[in-house]
Amino acid sequence: MYEQFIEEAESKEEVEYDFAIRKFVDGILHKMNDFSSHMGDQSTQIGSYAQALKKPNIQTHELENIAEYITTAAATMQNSSTKIRNDVENSSNEINELKKLLDEARAEALTDDLTQIGNRKAFNSTLQDLTIKHSKTEEPLCLIMTDIDHFKKFNDTYGHPIGDSVLRYFAKTMQKDTTENESICRYGGEEFAIIIKNSSIEASTKRAEQIREQLQSSRLSIKGSSKKIDTITASFGVAQFYGSEDDLENFISRADKSLYAAKEAGRNTVIHEKMIC
Ligand code: GH3
Ligand code: MG
Ligand code: MG
Repeated sequence: MYEQFIEEAESKEEVEYDFAIRKFVDGILHKMNDFSSHMGDQSTQIGSYAQALKKPNIQTHELENIAEYITTAAATMQNSSTKIRNDVENSSNEINELKKLLDEARAEALTDDLTQIGNRKAFNSTLQDLTIKHSKTEEPLCLIMTDIDHFKKFNDTYGHPIGDSVLRYFAKTMQKDTTENESICRYGGEEFAIIIKNSSIEASTKRAEQIREQLQSSRLSIKGSSKKIDTITASFGVAQFYGSEDDLENFISRADKSLYAAKEAGRNTVIHEKMIC
């Protein structure tokens, strides 16, 4: 059904890159064909001269002719191969340039504009990849879901642009002590997620606690003004992935339920799934 009726939209960069690769391969194949048929003609000619060289009474002018032909043929072959090399080099540069643009476009499609961390799409794809991998390896995998407390009221008090700065600040706070085992994403609105590889639920809870504490103890003020901003806090829910007996939706839902429990418990709190079941 899916393949029959829906086609995945390709980005402009994807289409351009694909087109350039096809053009490149096509061009090289044509040139190689021309080159090899040209070489074929030359080598047949050289073969017949080689036979002529075996004649016992070969004349000086014949030798001169053969030498001249071979010199010209060698120069022509060298020219052709230099031209092919230059063409390949030029096309490769063009392809590399397009590849760079494509990589940038792909990275941009996975980045949240406001905070410059991974977006929901990046979250979905990372979590999908990791849960598949961790179903096989049984290595610990955890998910922290976090949501800023009373953010609606914050926006109402300070305005949306300052609210945006707080979202950027929160993303920076999460990135501060991050490791390569973590993927930090904006899940949507004022809700964020951290996927942590090779980390137990206890260690991930500690990590959430560290971020909670850092945010709560930040003293922010409005740029160019001495006015202090009220303390900002966030609530956190932590879940662990149980390998092959678990599934993605359930994993996210347990982190979400833990986050909800943290809100219920009075906010500015970290709750992990084992605390609620
Ligand atoms: P809770 O403690 O229960 O999470 O309360 P809350 O007010 O944070 O939750 P609620 O879901 O009622 O409101 C979320 C607010 O987050 C409302 C919305 O305007 C704000 N928000 C969502 N995305 C953005 C954004 O990109 N920028 C700004 N400034 N605000 C945003
Ligand atoms: Mg909120
Ligand atoms: Mg929310």
